[in-house]
Amino acid sequence: MTETLSRTERRASSTRTFTVHNPATLEGIADVPDATADDARAAIASAARALPAWTAVTALERARVLRRAEAIMLERADALGRTLTLEGGKPLAEARGEIAYAASFFGWFAGEAERVYGRTIPASSPSKRLMVIRQPVGVVAAITPWNFPAAMVTRKVGPAIAAGCSVVLKPAEQTPLTAIAIADILTEAGLPEGVLTVVTTSDPAAVGNELLHSDIVRKITFTGSTEVGKYLMREAAGSVKRVSLELGGHAPFIVFGDADIEAAAKGAIASKFRNAGQTCVCANRIYVHASVADKFTDAFVPLVQSLKVGNGVDAGVTIGPLIDQAGVNKVETHVADATSHGAHVRIGGHRPSGRGYFFEPTVLTDVKDSMLVMREETFGPVAPIATFESEDEVIERANRGPYGLAGYFYTRDLSRAWRVAERLQYGIIGLNDALPSVAQAPFGGFKESGLGSEGGSEGMEAFLETKYVSIGL
Ligand code: NAP
Repeated sequence: MTETLSRTERRASSTRTFTVHNPATLEGIADVPDATADDARAAIASAARALPAWTAVTALERARVLRRAEAIMLERADALGRTLTLEGGKPLAEARGEIAYAASFFGWFAGEAERVYGRTIPASSPSKRLMVIRQPVGVVAAITPWNFPAAMVTRKVGPAIAAGCSVVLKPAEQTPLTAIAIADILTEAGLPEGVLTVVTTSDPAAVGNELLHSDIVRKITFTGSTEVGKYLMREAAGSVKRVSLELGGHAPFIVFGDADIEAAAKGAIASKFRNAGQTCVCANRIYVHASVADKFTDAFVPLVQSLKVGNGVDAGVTIGPLIDQAGVNKVETHVADATSHGAHVRIGGHRPSGRGYFFEPTVLTDVKDSMLVMREETFGPVAPIATFESEDEVIERANRGPYGLAGYFYTRDLSRAWRVAERLQYGIIGLNDALPSVAQAPFGGFKESGLGSEGGSEGMEAFLETKYVSIGL
């Protein structure tokens, strides 16, 4: 059933709408305003009007708003999680987990708002005093993907409003409902009108164009594909906007011969199959030392077999649908390419019959680095297992390619732990840890995986300018 969300109409002047679909059933679940370039301009103007007053509010008051919003999100985790499952497909328990994770960014950046300190510098002259103050960058355009419809919003909007910026948020067109719900919660928590405007659209290029070429917008913060990220970076150069990019990944997951194999197998499940493999940090390439390859596969395959595919709202489901048909097609292409070049399907390998964008959890063995699945982000529930012989060899293979977001390895050797953590060219290292992301730690990629970090104190820096003031006495 399709319904129009009247409460979102204030976010677009256009009467046009587009329908949000449930990827498990393909049913329309809601209609949202379909913003045009004019709407984007109006949202930017509204953010510009709201900016001076919000910047002037004390950091303590900004923190209070964020803490209230965090509390409301946690109180409503069930309802928000359900919305997230309906539009994004991930199982309910995972969706509720994402809501808690998303809320934690509001809590963390509330604290960071209170810690935006300047400094004084010893002067070269007795009649001068030198100081440094931090100020918000101004109007921010935030563009978010569908795979974390809540957390990617709060990880950007939290620090932006904590710093005293105003924001125009363009969520992914597949998952705008969670973003709208979070914006409504911020309003309820006391965020003044205009500080955050959500612009939902089925025409990202037109809205993006306004955001990129407006002189009012001073910062673009983006999470999504490397391809779109590069385009945004090029276009933002025209007015030298600040740019933060969280882009694609292709995480290696390395199991050394001395690893705790049970822990590594469980870790690989958590990392690979969360959100049906549609996360930027999920294990994409599993490298297992040849001496333990059979032991690892024997521990891993039964765990994969126990995963339950289905509609995320149904009890016991652990693997929901992929986001769309293009996602299913990509997974099928990767599996077909691997098998045609000699890989073996140990389990799964097909899309089940029936409606919805589902794909079976799949394990491939005898995988080679030349196969597509080892070179591109699969973004689906496929675990390719390759073997290696030495530490140097696996590090060289793991560091190949343009991506550098997350890398994982399992070992019980302390010296190796340090060596490998230092040599992997990745912004996030999970050492015997498959789920390293937390609000208080920096999250960002090397190479073509991005620019800057979100979360941690680094996440706040991205929304602050540094101003030096020299005072003659
Ligand atoms: P995407 O196609 O790049 O889309 C991301 C966002 O950009 C969406 O809101 C999209 O709008 C918008 N967009 C597309 N073209 C645009 C344009 N010309 N101007 C302005 N905005 C534009 O990526 P996705 O498929 O949604 O997300 C998956 C990718 O995100 C993967 O590569 C994944 O690794 C990456 N990701 C990275 C992180 C990280 O932290 N590094 C986290 C999560 C995901 P529409 O929805 O309307 O197309």
